[in-house]
Amino acid sequence: MTAETAKTSRTAETVEAPEAKVALVTGGSRGIGRAVVNRLASDGYDIAFCYRSDEAAAELVSKEVAALGRRVFARKVDVADREQVKAFVTSVEDEFGPVAAAVTSAGITRDNPLVLMPDDDWDAVIRTNLDGTYHVCRSVIYPMIKRRGGAVVTLSSIAGVAGNAAQTNYAASKAGIIGFTRSLAKEGGRYAIRANTVAPGFIETDMTSALTEKVTKEMIGRIPLRRFGTADDVAALVSFLVSDQASYVTGQVFQVDGGIAL
Ligand code: NAP
Repeated sequence: MTAETAKTSRTAETVEAPEAKVALVTGGSRGIGRAVVNRLASDGYDIAFCYRSDEAAAELVSKEVAALGRRVFARKVDVADREQVKAFVTSVEDEFGPVAAAVTSAGITRDNPLVLMPDDDWDAVIRTNLDGTYHVCRSVIYPMIKRRGGAVVTLSSIAGVAGNAAQTNYAASKAGIIGFTRSLAKEGGRYAIRANTVAPGFIETDMTSALTEKVTKEMIGRIPLRRFGTADDVAALVSFLVSDQASYVTGQVFQVDGGIAL
């Protein structure tokens, strides 16, 4: 084969191979984010995800994505840090191309009744959950506007919908995410950018593993479906929301809570 025919056949291969869309997931190393990463990789997305500190968990998730035959780009990024997020999104776009779907799953709790709330815990929760969501969406929005398309899914919580004692910080951050996402849906619609929120109830992850057995039992008794949800239950909805099947769905809050809020 001459250099010229080799070049031609490479071009032909490139043209034939459908290009994978890129999904960016924050907090992709554990829990719901990890399930979303795996689900979207199974759906055919190349994956960029970030995490805060747990490198071993991130390494494992990267291997899971690679085993699914998709490209993966994992970075240690604190979503509360605007510059780190900007740099992350820029590197993702440089390496993998434009972000088609952004899922903001990174989140923390620091529970305390308001009367005992340390200022640092208020700040940490608002900065990670609410500011973090803003930083990611702010970084992906302009490229999505330029390309006239994109899907954003933010993670709220039933605490953001109904409030929860000892979670004024968390509930405020999660309620803020709902207002943020609905506003983004109104702004983005004309550019074919959709934005939806998923508000989970009790989902089996490290975040809920801290609950005592007594509280867990009590909660299960209040859930019509009589179990905590799994991270895969949430990932299935996210998969639908970023897909073209949801092309007329925007600005909505979807509770994945086994019916606890009824
Ligand atoms: P999780 O198991 O505790 O995992 C949290 C993930 O977020 C980890 O990958 C963690 O990375 C990452 N993360 C935390 N702070 C970060 C930061 N500053 N920058 C970047 N990454 C950060 O949590 P989860 O239960 O999957 O929760 C996921 C989302 O769903 C959260 O927004 C949470 O509020 C929401 N949610 C969860 C439940 C539930 O029952 N689990 C219910 C309602 C809503 P490292 O491991 O490296 O720290």
